Amino acid sequence: MNDTPLAILEDRDAFLRRHIGPTEAEQAEMARAIGYDSLAALIDATVPGSIRRREPMALAEPDTEEAVLARLRELAGRNRVLRSYLGMGYHDTHTPAVIQRNVLENPGWYTAYTPYQPEISQGRLEALLAYQQLVMDLTGMDLANASLLDEATAAAEAMTLLQRVNKKNRSNRFLVAADCHPQTLAVLRTRAEPLDIEIVVTEAEDPLASGDAFGLLLQYPGTHGEVRDLAPVIEAAHSCGTLVCVAADLLALLMLSPPGKAGADVVVGSSQRFGIPMGFGGPHAAFFATRDSYKRSTPGRIIGVSVDRYGQQALRMAMQTREQHIRREKATSNICTAQALLAIMAAFYAMYHGPYGLRRIAERVHRLTNLVAARLQAAGFTLANAHWFDTVTVHVGQQQAELLAAAESAGMNLRPVGDDRLGIALDETTTLADVADLLAVFGDRETLADDPAVASGLPAALARPVDYLLHPLFNSFQSETEMLRYLHRLEGRDIALNRAMIPLGSCTMKLNATSEMLPVTWPEFARIHPFAPASQTAGYRQLLDELSHMLRECTGYDAISLQPNAGSQGEYAGLLAIRRYHQARGAGHRDICLIPASAHGTNPASAALAGMRIVIVDCDGEGNVAMGDLKAKVEAHSEKLAAIMVTYPSTHGVFEESIVELCELIHAHGGQVYVDGANLNALIGIAAPGEFGADVSHLNLHKTFCIPHGGGGPGMGPIGVGAHLEPFLPSHPVMPVPGLANDNDVVSATPYGSASILPISWTYIALMGARGLTRASEVAILSANYIAHRLAPHFPILYTGRNGRVAHECIIDLRPLKEASGIGEEDVAKRLIDYGFHAPTMSFPVAGTLMVEPTESESLAEVDRFCDAMITIREEIRAVEEGRLPANDNPLVKAPHTLAEVTAEQWPHPYPRSQAAYPVDSLRNDKYWAPVGRVDNVYGDRNLFCACPAIDSYRAEAPEPA
Ligand SMILES: *Cc1c(COP(=O)(O)O)cnc(C)c1O
Repeated sequence: MNDTPLAILEDRDAFLRRHIGPTEAEQAEMARAIGYDSLAALIDATVPGSIRRREPMALAEPDTEEAVLARLRELAGRNRVLRSYLGMGYHDTHTPAVIQRNVLENPGWYTAYTPYQPEISQGRLEALLAYQQLVMDLTGMDLANASLLDEATAAAEAMTLLQRVNKKNRSNRFLVAADCHPQTLAVLRTRAEPLDIEIVVTEAEDPLASGDAFGLLLQYPGTHGEVRDLAPVIEAAHSCGTLVCVAADLLALLMLSPPGKAGADVVVGSSQRFGIPMGFGGPHAAFFATRDSYKRSTPGRIIGVSVDRYGQQALRMAMQTREQHIRREKATSNICTAQALLAIMAAFYAMYHGPYGLRRIAERVHRLTNLVAARLQAAGFTLANAHWFDTVTVHVGQQQAELLAAAESAGMNLRPVGDDRLGIALDETTTLADVADLLAVFGDRETLADDPAVASGLPAALARPVDYLLHPLFNSFQSETEMLRYLHRLEGRDIALNRAMIPLGSCTMKLNATSEMLPVTWPEFARIHPFAPASQTAGYRQLLDELSHMLRECTGYDAISLQPNAGSQGEYAGLLAIRRYHQARGAGHRDICLIPASAHGTNPASAALAGMRIVIVDCDGEGNVAMGDLKAKVEAHSEKLAAIMVTYPSTHGVFEESIVELCELIHAHGGQVYVDGANLNALIGIAAPGEFGADVSHLNLHKTFCIPHGGGGPGMGPIGVGAHLEPFLPSHPVMPVPGLANDNDVVSATPYGSASILPISWTYIALMGARGLTRASEVAILSANYIAHRLAPHFPILYTGRNGRVAHECIIDLRPLKEASGIGEEDVAKRLIDYGFHAPTMSFPVAGTLMVEPTESESLAEVDRFCDAMITIREEIRAVEEGRLPANDNPLVKAPHTLAEVTAEQWPHPYPRSQAAYPVDSLRNDKYWAPVGRVDNVYGDRNLFCACPAIDSYRAEAPEPA
């Protein structure tokens, strides 16, 4: 950008030129096409002066990929990777290399979007369906979803589901067994308070002695390793009308009788130890399994089996209308982004090992644990457990500190329990040599040999045969060659960013640069337990401090919490901070949350979870918040006003002029302003919510800050707040967040959410610097305006702001065309697949429209290819409008076309095959073929089937290994 001789020597903008698609010359050309002399002139005309940043961001100079990665290596080197025996729901595991390289490190998997468009998502839908099958098989339940954020929030979702569905027992009490993981209990307490649920911690042996309750949570095995028979407790609970959720360990379930068999109503847990690195807390997929009768109340996404236009089996997200996007204030959960990529990896891990391979892993871990138990007892220690699978707790009396220190200096972490016990949890990676080292810490240095006669810690009554994973998907890919080809086959069915632009409005599908992704699998980031002693995580802590500083600069806020692991969780954490702030000032009665009609559905869903009452504010004909209606509602609710939630730039894709006035109005009435930060990609470097009057925002790091979407997660949703809200940010019961009170709210299972993907955003910001980030925002706005300009002669552009400009996305209105031709937004979305594109966002925020967001990373060539496709599609619609093609048989309503149809003997359509497959010539060089025809939206919901369909015929039992 700045060709001084020094710039050539250092070339600090080298990455910027890779991240941003259009060259400088193209940027100028695009600006001129729209009618401006320069990019700067376009930005001046588009962004209201009243919100422009006063100060530039104080960030370090950008640097090259090599230099930034070298610095990150240095930070990583300050973390110490010890053998972890800490347990508590996090265990070391071997990520099979074939999965690490071909899924976790493969943009074909990690850059995909949530599978709302099933025709281009059949690969990941198959993997997610297998995940559901895996969870159903191991838990013994009827139905499972395709992941939640973490075990603790899954337990919280279970609590609220049980309260909703329990018609027999209307008590507001929820019992939690004392041997649940402490982080789960903390998240439950936070969730319960605004909903007037009373949490009662109770003895694990006899939980019902604590009295009447609508629900009960048990941990299986308990956090200290104890394995108890669930059946008698569940039976007793049911006889009082108390419903039961079991938080279970998947590896243990390979050997232990499943909770479903014992009568559990919900089973939750984490699939982390199925091949997903601990990553200092995440990301990992939580699971949620329940009874068939609760399926319509189940949170999160569920994959189901449907049929396509040809009547052939095709997969689809089932019951999409339950999503909070659609249910809004009637939503029962606010979860949106979940953990798809990690669920997919866990499913592949299970397929790669197969039922007997998994069983062997579980048996090995258990056998080594038996050995540890036997030798410790022989050495004179007493165990706190009567039974165990892979975790034992040892009474060590006064020796606790000494043994902990000895373990740490021998390179291992044990879990302190109370002040006189130590917990030891083994895992897949533990070897006989590790056990010898461990025993040496306890003074037992005798040589160690495997001893088949050593007593098992499992209660004989709970033994389980290999009665799971019988489906062929779990019995076909045990050789690496087969696995490799299967992964490649599935990947090939989908459109991800490695194939084409994904112009999804509100989702910001920008480049996830390879350099940003490299650190994720470095062992110094990947193999750290979330509760490892702070002295071992100095590198992480510095990285988190630096990232917090960067995000403060980007947003103008005073403090950051890195705990929320999705935007929805950020909304929740931010609203809780507002709630606590009002309570602390004696204004706890303030509970009204104003939300504009155009808001994303997570906004009202989060407000409801935070105990607020929702009042909807109208939008005017230009798509702006109607200031008249807002004033009326603010005045009507002045005494009770808690907050407003607005998205900026608006979900309609415009910079509203009135935002500063809006913030002042809310403050004048004692309310707080929550700005939904999903659209920050239009703002960074240009305007800062913390400067123009907002009090709190979440940042979807998986949108603006380059964490990939992973086919529906992971994500991260840290929040920025003004200094007055800082005391109310989330902390953590096991690893308190420095500077905050220990009893603050807790919104995630771990203190820094999905910490191991935070280096992605750190790297992005370090590579871009202030000028690069600002340029990225400018080019995002430029590209959206360029698309609006090119498409305006062909389609109405719904909303524009100042000078007829849009922000970083634009809405194409298809309603008039639908009137005239019967062709709607869905037909255009599906026809784009024939052109090799993922559809834009459909019918959000306005039904009957498509919202296009190109981002700064798409080259001018790709943006033009998209515009050309849209313009050609417009001509195809014209043929229907003018009666040249019938309304019920044309390339739009029959889209997408599969290779099988185009090459079939029969071609019944009134348009040629060549038009079906190659409507523009460029497709002859590179053609994506949808693997299925248009998927029936209704069939799959009417005939709900959420397990893997038979490939040939089911076998009665899994084949024995050769
Ligand atoms: C994506 C989005 C959200 C939700 O964020 P998640 O990270 O998916 O939970 C909220 N609001 C808006 C406007 C969004 O686009």
